[in-house]
Amino acid sequence: MSDEAPKDLGMKRRIPRRDFLGGVAVAAGLAAAPPLALGGADPGQPAAQVPADPELLPDTYPPALTGLRGQYPGSFEEAHRTRDGAYAGALGIEDDTGEVYDLVVVGAGLSGLTAAHLFQRYLNGHGNVLVLDNHDDFGGHAKRNEFRHGHRVYLAAGGTLDIDTPYFPYSYTARALLAELGIDVGSYPRHLNPQLYAGLTEGVFFDREHFVRDGLVAGRGRKPWRQFFAEAPLTAAARADLLRVHTATVDYLPGLDAAGKAALLKRISYEQFLVQHVHLHREALPYFAGLAFRNNKRIDTCPAYEASQHGSPGFQGMSIESEKFPDPDYFFHFPDGNATIARLLVNRLVPGAWSEPCDAESIAVALVDYAKLDRPGSPTRIRLRSTVVRAEHEGDPRSSRSVQVVYSRGGRLARVRARNVVLACHNNIIRYLVPELPQAQKTALAYASKVPMQYTNVLLRNWRPWQRLGVQSIVAPNGYHTELELVPPVSMGAYRFPDSPDEPVVARLTRNPNHPGLPRKTQQALGRQDMLVTPFEKIEQEVRAQLQRTLGAGGFDAPRDLLAITVNRWPHGYAYTYDTLADPAFADNEYPHVVGRQRLGRISIANADAGAAAFTNEAIDQAHRAVHDLLASRGWT
Ligand SMILES: Cc1cc2nc3c(=O)[nH]c(=O)nc-3n(C[C@H](O)[C@H](O)[C@H](O)COP(=O)(O)OP(=O)(O)OC[C@H]3O[C@@H](n4cnc5c(N)ncnc54)[C@H](O)[C@@H]3O)c2cc1C
Repeated sequence: MSDEAPKDLGMKRRIPRRDFLGGVAVAAGLAAAPPLALGGADPGQPAAQVPADPELLPDTYPPALTGLRGQYPGSFEEAHRTRDGAYAGALGIEDDTGEVYDLVVVGAGLSGLTAAHLFQRYLNGHGNVLVLDNHDDFGGHAKRNEFRHGHRVYLAAGGTLDIDTPYFPYSYTARALLAELGIDVGSYPRHLNPQLYAGLTEGVFFDREHFVRDGLVAGRGRKPWRQFFAEAPLTAAARADLLRVHTATVDYLPGLDAAGKAALLKRISYEQFLVQHVHLHREALPYFAGLAFRNNKRIDTCPAYEASQHGSPGFQGMSIESEKFPDPDYFFHFPDGNATIARLLVNRLVPGAWSEPCDAESIAVALVDYAKLDRPGSPTRIRLRSTVVRAEHEGDPRSSRSVQVVYSRGGRLARVRARNVVLACHNNIIRYLVPELPQAQKTALAYASKVPMQYTNVLLRNWRPWQRLGVQSIVAPNGYHTELELVPPVSMGAYRFPDSPDEPVVARLTRNPNHPGLPRKTQQALGRQDMLVTPFEKIEQEVRAQLQRTLGAGGFDAPRDLLAITVNRWPHGYAYTYDTLADPAFADNEYPHVVGRQRLGRISIANADAGAAAFTNEAIDQAHRAVHDLLASRGWT
């Protein structure tokens, strides 16, 4: 967890219920709602019943909670107390459960769930596994949001969006896991309805603070650049320069060959390239502010070389030595993003907690009974709302066969024991959990800085305004959220995506709290702090104002059309990746993530940080390696 987060974060606050926004009732009468029909547009679909178990009443059913989610108030404070030394000394255990497991996994994200699954596979399902996580829901970043309105549920990804291979191809292991879970990546076109948004384009919102006046221009990348910029509210100088940088075939580094260009561009930011080499007019620069590059780098933190490899404007006249990235030929988006992968794993691990037997399609509408995730006698138990504060061997790590795991749950410290532990949490908390780690390893684990990210999902009464304006997505270079997008029209199993612009729809608004001009890690630390101290009310105000300003010309009326807001805040979002601007060149075996992930006795380390890549496949691959380490610790390999 963050080293920089402020101390007073309202630890005892209840999770806010956001049934009313500005006096407009949303999802009215949830508890008394009639049978809940997912995908109710099709009257032939069976209705999924709202379960009677109080754990599953909609106001406590985690995916259906609105307001602040992701790292919600109440989920992270014990981790920060651990960081701050509250559990550094002798621990007063209040609940010694007496439970002993073959394996305890810390973290119920994709990596932790995969580790539990692979271990159970190795033991043909006869393992005895406990998964602990600090949140009220499983999946880590891969969580889902459910909005209930009328008699329907609208799904969206709360974090991890897609199976995708833009930079790191899926390994054999990752592909095999998806296949085992029944995911047929090649079937994606069957679920997508591309016709629904036909004719809608990407737009850019030009704000009056940085341009001539407010204005949304549709058709970026579709219209000829001359036309696109002619329609934009720009000064003559900015317009001319934006047209030049997008269309001129100029070599801005004429004295260098392709390799020399690549070398220089790796040492400067894209912003430096634009200002110092392209001599972009200062009035044109704000247009580039919202561009997000790999790992959410911005023009001031993205190496110009990376920008050149993404087809960014300014390089079309230059021959630059290229590092080939694999084509993105492996893509899939579930209605709830990669939360479906987490749900499929939990469905394998704890089948009794599900409303019905599920496959990769029918799981979209299946309900989880959260009270059944942690049942005595189940080979795998998932214990939520449990923050691990210590994992240490009983005795010498080189010979010990037992690790005690202490976690905080409901304000009390509890202990379980395990023959092995996989830490599938975040690198930066591991050094506080395992005091016995060598100092060099602790230092290596502290190197990474996760990227703060916020996905604000909003339920809108309809998407007519988007249609009138001709946009499906909007880039707002200087907005509170920098991207606004209608979620992909994907139907799966009994879940039917609304098929008319007059029906409600979810839009995802992306915010990355950056502080341009500062070093990347400093920006990320400040972003994490911003995120944790910003109350929901402030975000709600910003959402209303931004949607009104952006879509108002299309007839959007916030008090009428904004139905609900779920803010998925991920202060510890993307795993850190190295780049040529911010990081030194490391030898292969000296990369901090490689040093940091070494096994200590019976404790091994999974999670995407351990692979220094913020991707689902990395979380899976690291789980696979950690389970292999675990087996090695028992002499089983
Ligand atoms: C907003 C967002 C969008 C993304 N989009 C994509 C995408 O489209 N495609 C893609 O491939 N990847 C995407 N990623 C990256 C991907 O989500 C991650 O790489 C992957 O899900 C990480 O899984 P993980 O299990 O390693 O970590 P996490 O998902 O972070 O899970 C770790 C879990 O451990 C818990 N934990 C931490 N400390 C403790 C403790 N002390 N005790 C108990 N529990 C603890 C955490 O709270 C968390 O629940 C995205 C990430 C984010 C943040």
